[in-house]
Amino acid sequence: MRTQEQVNEIVRLLLEEYPEASCTLDYDKAYELLFSVRLAAQCTDERVNQITPALFARFPTLESFAEADVAEVEQYVHSCGFFRAKARDIVACAQVLLEKHGGRVPDTMEELTALPGVGRKTANLILGDVYRVPGSTVVDTHCIRLSNRMGLVDNLKEPVKIEMALRKILPPERSSDFCHCLVLHGRAVCDARKPDCEHCCVKHLCQHFSG
Ligand code: SF4
Repeated sequence: MRTQEQVNEIVRLLLEEYPEASCTLDYDKAYELLFSVRLAAQCTDERVNQITPALFARFPTLESFAEADVAEVEQYVHSCGFFRAKARDIVACAQVLLEKHGGRVPDTMEELTALPGVGRKTANLILGDVYRVPGSTVVDTHCIRLSNRMGLVDNLKEPVKIEMALRKILPPERSSDFCHCLVLHGRAVCDARKPDCEHCCVKHLCQHFSG
């Protein structure tokens, strides 16, 4: 495990390395981000960004999503995989947002995770990116891999345990941006199969590299 000083330095260096780190899904409205994240499950952000312009043009308002024929939404999201469940969740989520939240995406973990198809990862993303809630910690596949390799967590696999462990050590104001950095660093350097440790800006602090 890394010391708090080492953690702070890892955070500082990665934020410096990826100063523009942010969510790579394209969206204009908060509910569009919510739906895009649902579509991104078991899919790439790149693929989601290819299909959402047509989807959001066909259904330009929350009301239009709530009234949509699920079968038609399926056609738009087909290439994202698990299209039936995703289309069903999106339409149901739009209905709940209108019925229970006045058309607004809620800003609490409890309310967000009560929405159809929304788990803690999505909720943290909304809280961090839309509402800038301190401490928001998005644990995706990159975060799981990198936080274990670096030694930010001690051999944890369960996302919720990793989230709780990271919440204890990450500076709350920076945790959301830091998680975006982990995604970019995971894609660019700390690859799942073959991490490029020689060219890594935090190798001197990394548990995997130093052994
Ligand atoms: S030193 Fe290697 S294992 Fe550690 S974060 Fe960098 S690329 Fe990943």
